[in-house]
Amino acid sequence: MKEINASEFEKEVLQSDKVILDFYSTECPPCEALATKFEDLAGLYGKDIKFIKIFRQQNRDLAEKLAVKSSPTLLFYKNGKEVADRLTGGIKRSDIIRNLDSMIPVEKVAQIKSQIKPSVSEYDVIILGAGPGGLTAGLYLCQAKVNTVLIDISLPGGHVSTTHEVSNYPGFIEPQAGYMLSHNMSEQTKLCGTVYKVAVDITSVDLDKKEVVIDEYETVRAKKIVIATGTTPNLTGAPGEKELKGKGISYCATCDGKYMDGKDVVVIGGGNSAVEESEYLTRFANKLTIVHQFAKLTANKQAQDKVFNNPKISLLFDTEPRTFIKEGEKIVTEIENIKTKVRQKLTSDGVFIFIGMKPNIDLFRDKLELDKWGYIKTDEDMRTSISGVFAVGDVISKKYRQITTAVADGTIAAMAIAKELD
Ligand SMILES: Cc1cc2nc3c(=O)[nH]c(=O)nc-3n(C[C@H](O)[C@H](O)[C@H](O)COP(=O)(O)OP(=O)(O)OC[C@H]3O[C@@H](n4cnc5c(N)ncnc54)[C@H](O)[C@@H]3O)c2cc1C
Repeated sequence: MKEINASEFEKEVLQSDKVILDFYSTECPPCEALATKFEDLAGLYGKDIKFIKIFRQQNRDLAEKLAVKSSPTLLFYKNGKEVADRLTGGIKRSDIIRNLDSMIPVEKVAQIKSQIKPSVSEYDVIILGAGPGGLTAGLYLCQAKVNTVLIDISLPGGHVSTTHEVSNYPGFIEPQAGYMLSHNMSEQTKLCGTVYKVAVDITSVDLDKKEVVIDEYETVRAKKIVIATGTTPNLTGAPGEKELKGKGISYCATCDGKYMDGKDVVVIGGGNSAVEESEYLTRFANKLTIVHQFAKLTANKQAQDKVFNNPKISLLFDTEPRTFIKEGEKIVTEIENIKTKVRQKLTSDGVFIFIGMKPNIDLFRDKLELDKWGYIKTDEDMRTSISGVFAVGDVISKKYRQITTAVADGTIAAMAIAKELD
């Protein structure tokens, strides 16, 4: 592995056979998450592919010339030409391996794979999921000197990291940008000493043995497990939705709202998320239509008032989407009034869907006692139906799902665990 600067790019990258190039920055949590994977893979693939790092902040001109817009960004070169997809953000080991494998002969890939040695690490507690619930459990456990590892399939932060503004988290007079709140929560837990294994693939989870296998070869064992895996947005199920996800249909206003400057937007849903995110979207959008299946909004009164007083927002009640079709740059949403059965078409530049959530329990669905909606049942100390397995946050069966309630659950589970381990 080698660190270069822009003046060496021509020789070290363009004149080399095969190269993986990491544009990294400091004070960049996803760069830190990538660093150990990069080093580990350099040990495996380093004889066949050059592993090069370049500090983006000190090599801005080159980064701009190569259209590198975020850190980290991984670029792959073969004989001076860029090959394979660029990787950015919370980069998974499996995605890097896929790209590296595509650059070398199949026999070589098999040879490298045969050298991979499975590893085993042991902790007191494994926390699955690094949203507010998992991060708080991690903080309390760490402060109680319990050896804890946080494992997340993505970067830390959970839903908060993509919420534009949080105005109801106690301790802050002004509304906080969601990404800053989640960043601070994550840094506080990390600084305490909790081990992070993030942006990983979870190969298997054995709740009875308290064993999690990540990235195929790494087994992580503990005495207790805390499930803090949160929820995933529901889909409408209308034809075209899956195909247009990320191509005009979005589930995250913070992520995609900024591309709606002066545009027409359709929002599906009528609960708090739909209404609050609609209000936010009108910072950019010219016109916004909320399509809601019931006769009244289900959001709280305060949020409803904002929408009713916003001249950019119009509402269609008793209406559901039937199909989503892309026509050029536009999305045509066919909607149906469920009372009159009359259908009409709404043409917009983007569709945002906020119609509730489903719990992330696919890896342990068959093992745990669940409520009728699939959320994990717990007792008042957050214990599940399996001994030594706790669950916290949005993934558990409860009435109110907020950052504060997830944080409270994480606190309770951590205190109960610390006491049990004592
Ligand atoms: C659009 C929107 C706006 C919101 N606004 C507010 C607000 O203003 N105020 C408020 O209090 N609440 C708000 N909420 C709710 C709040 O974000 C959640 O209640 C809170 O984030 C729940 O925390 P959590 O830790 O349980 O789960 P999450 O935040 O969902 O985090 C779960 C974590 O688990 C990870 N994960 C998923 N599956 C796995 C797996 N198999 N293995 C390992 N890790 C996994 C995910 O990557 C994620 O990092 C909002 C929610 C949304 C969707």
